[in-house]
This record gives sequence, C-alpha cells and structure tokens, in this order.
Amino acid sequence: MKSSSDGVKSSRTNCQEVYPQKDELILVAGAGGFIGGALVRFLKSKGYRRIRAVDKKPLPHWYQRVEGVECLNLDLSEEVHCKRVVQEAAEVYNLAADMGGMGFIERFRVECLRSILINTHLIEHAWRAGTRRFFFSSSACAYNIKLQEDPNCRALRESDAYPALAERGYGWEKLLSEMFCQEYWAERGMKTFIARFHNVYGPWGTWDGGREKAPAALCRKIIEAKDTGRRDITIWGNGHQTRSFMYIDDCLTGIDKIMHCDNLVAVPINLGTSEMISINDLVSLAEKIGRIKLQRNYDLLAPRGVAGRNSDNTFIQQVLHWEPSTPIHKGLVPTFKWIEQQYHDRKAGRETVRDIY
Ligand code: NAD
Repeated sequence: MKSSSDGVKSSRTNCQEVYPQKDELILVAGAGGFIGGALVRFLKSKGYRRIRAVDKKPLPHWYQRVEGVECLNLDLSEEVHCKRVVQEAAEVYNLAADMGGMGFIERFRVECLRSILINTHLIEHAWRAGTRRFFFSSSACAYNIKLQEDPNCRALRESDAYPALAERGYGWEKLLSEMFCQEYWAERGMKTFIARFHNVYGPWGTWDGGREKAPAALCRKIIEAKDTGRRDITIWGNGHQTRSFMYIDDCLTGIDKIMHCDNLVAVPINLGTSEMISINDLVSLAEKIGRIKLQRNYDLLAPRGVAGRNSDNTFIQQVLHWEPSTPIHKGLVPTFKWIEQQYHDRKAGRETVRDIY
C-alpha cells in the first residue's frame, strides 16, 4: 500500500487531510449522472489533470461532459469492466447506482439491489490495483425505518442504522455495500470512506422521467402549471412528510472533505443538512420562486417513503468542523431556474438532460 505520494495538509479540523498529487489518476464511477457529473467538474476545477469518468449511459446522454476528462461508456456491474477502469487509479469514487426518487426505489427494488454488483466488483479491483482511497455514496435510506414513522421524528445519528431495518431494496444494498467498505479496510487495509447522503438537489439533476426526486419534481410541476395554465398541483402523500435537502455544492465539498480525512476511514457519516422541511412547505417555496399559487391535490396512494427524516450533524461537526449549510430557500432558486430553462429547451426541441435506460 503506497502512501508516500499523498500530500498531507495541515488543517483546522480534527482530521489529518491527505490529498493525492494533481497528476495522479482519479476514477469517478457514475459520472454520467447528477452527482458524479458534478464531481468530475469539481475535481477538474481543483486542478486534477487525470480524471477517468465512467458510466453505463452512452456518452451523448451524460448530464455533464467536462473537457480534458477520459470518458468511458461501460457497465460496471460487469467485473471485467471494473478491473479495467481502476488500473492506476489512486482514488476511486463510486457514485454509480441504479436509483431514483421514491417512485423509482419503491417500484424497482431488484434493480436497486443489483447495484451491489457495481460496488462489489469495483472495490475488489480497486484493492487489487493498489488504490489508496475508495469512496462509497451511501444513503439515509440505510437507516432503520422504524425511527422515521413520525414527521417530527428526531434527526438520524450514524448509530441509527443498527439494529438494521433499512428501506427495502435500495437501503439494504447501501447497508451491505457499506459493510464491504468497512471490511476492505479491516481485513485488507484499503482506506474506504462512506457518506450517507440525505436528498441531494440542484442544477443538472434528474427532473423528469420517473427517477426525479421531490424538489425537482415539484419545481417541474409548477413550471408546467405556469406554462399550460393549469391551476392545480398533485402532491404525493399528504404533504406532511418531512425531509432535509442538501444543495449539490455542499455535497461536493462534503465528499472532498470526507474522502481526505484519515479520521473517517471506514466510518459511515451523515452528509446532509439538518434543516427539516415538510413537502407542503417545499411546495410553498417553489410556488414563491415561480410566482404562482396552485390548488393542491393529494395523492394518498402514491409512493411517499418514510414519514420523517432529518440528518443529525453532531458527528460531522465534531470531525470536520463543517456541515452542509445552504438553506433550501437559497438552493431552490438556481434549481428552479435551471429546470425552467430545461423545460423550455425541451419544448423547443433542444437537447436537455434526459434519463435513458
Ligand atoms: P444518478 O442516477 O443521477 O447517477 C447515477 C449514475 O450511475 C447514472 O448516470 C447511471 O447511468 C450510472 N449507473 C447505474 N448503473 C451503472 C452501471 N452498472 N455501470 C455504470 N454506471 C451505472 O444518481 P445521483 O443522484 O447522481 O446519485 C449518485 C449516488 O449517490 C448513487 O449511489 C446514489 O444512490 C447516491 N445517493 C444519491 C442521493 C440523491 O439525493 N441524489 C441520495 C442518497 C444517495
């Protein structure tokens, strides 16, 4: 295991921060999607010169393409592809998963579970190739659902994943992949990092097609209503469900901090805001941005997920002296404007972000 080429930075946080050299190879899996695409752009802006980006989507359908980045269209649930892409990678970020909002993960549990193949092959070959740091994008869906039955439930601490009763399908895949990461450190000595993301939103996120999440779906519905003259909106559930939503820029900063903090090796950590908001209040915010007020219809049979969920940020504060802090009323503005532009571009027949599977 080499570590001599890592650059150690002094830090005001409680961790020793260790970064690779700018000319070492960084691999981003799932780079054709929302967070992976944004991460590639982020890494490029930090000066990394050798970035390999991989996704199973054909290249023209990647959400973002960054110049000077090696882009590969490969299915990482196949071992042979994982073996190929990790060669020479000093760091591996695994953002690849077959996933979406509640509408997707409640309906396609097998697809969600099958993402286990991606992480299983990727981590094995990263270890064999001598990768120094491996990042896994876990989720708040790994938490015990019994603790999320009330919209006003207490925020989730990292220890709340066990005793385990994760979200069916998607949540269990995350929990088991977390365990792989922990054991590759414990038994094999590869440094792994595990962030449990809480709902991420922002420009360049999926906004229609069935995989979109609540903030993007609600913005789109309001934009559609404005455009078509409809005066109503359908909300999934009774609107009292609560969540916290993290703006993409905070997510990227958090990934970077977690990945390079040696005190967090193989330790799952929340990456989300602690600003809890109900879906009804989220609709009101989006209406305010769109300058429209709509009649609300509630679809009580639609997927709605757990009743309440929030991120307890005590641990991240303690280790990193930082937490995601963009308030939803701020982050939703650029998100809404971006979706509005996408909506009108699509209507005009121009190219837009689109999920194809
Ligand atoms: P996304 O769907 O936009 O991106 C995931 C990408 O993975 C897609 O481009 C998809 O094509 C790719 N992919 C799927 N299967 C693949 C395979 N077999 N081989 C190669 N590529 C494959 O999702 P996202 O929002 O960017 O999420 C990134 C990661 O963060 C995922 O692991 C997700 O579970 C996790 N996460 C996201 C959120 C969120 O709110 N967005 C919340 C919790 C966890």
